[in-house]
Amino acid sequence: MESIAHESRKTAFDITKVLACIRRAIKPYPKAMLFELAERGFGSVFHQVCACILSVRTLDETSLKTSLRLFERAASPKEMLLLSVDEIRDLIFDSTFAGQKAPRLWEIARIAQGSPGGDIACDFESLTALPGVGPKCAGLVLGIACGKAAIGVDIHVHRVTHRWGYTKAATPEKTLRELQAKLPRKHWVEINELLVPFGKNICTGAAPKCSTCPVLDSCEQVGVSRHR
Ligand code: SF4
Repeated sequence: MESIAHESRKTAFDITKVLACIRRAIKPYPKAMLFELAERGFGSVFHQVCACILSVRTLDETSLKTSLRLFERAASPKEMLLLSVDEIRDLIFDSTFAGQKAPRLWEIARIAQGSPGGDIACDFESLTALPGVGPKCAGLVLGIACGKAAIGVDIHVHRVTHRWGYTKAATPEKTLRELQAKLPRKHWVEINELLVPFGKNICTGAAPKCSTCPVLDSCEQVGVSRHR
């Protein structure tokens, strides 16, 4: 590792070009969990909400396995309502706070089952009214399950866009508002899909791999004091 002083960008920042570089760079790495689940056929609002709740304070790798185990027993709200809360808790045992998440999942199944079309409505207010669902999960679900332009700002999106110098906000909530104001809508859904694997494998929290990063020339490396 080497220490670096703050460096200025060497080329003008073009978000579309930067994201194209990142799209290529993340190909060897596992996909972000919710996008992976959607590809495997679990792309409904119900599935995505349940999986996003399971991902809270839990590694993506674990959340993927836990979600698949749960959906194998209960692939629909109707099937989940046939399980007791204790049975759901046992199925999601390896998810952090499984005891708190199990009754939330059962309640979400009840709400979905009672909704028109048998699933939760595709709007931000309906989603954030669900137990355990905040703006991050709502944004991801709207983008992945509903096909709407929405941004899911998690820690990776927040940290990476800040390091680029593209956003300045101190919290993910404020970063969301900044991105809504400046990020072209065509990138709203994919920015999470791209920056989760990028943030986990290249622009990592403690010592990002700047020396081999494909967007080094466009990055201000804000707050990066040491890198690989
Ligand atoms: S790895 Fe380094 S150069 Fe690449 S985006 Fe992160 S901070 Fe910028």
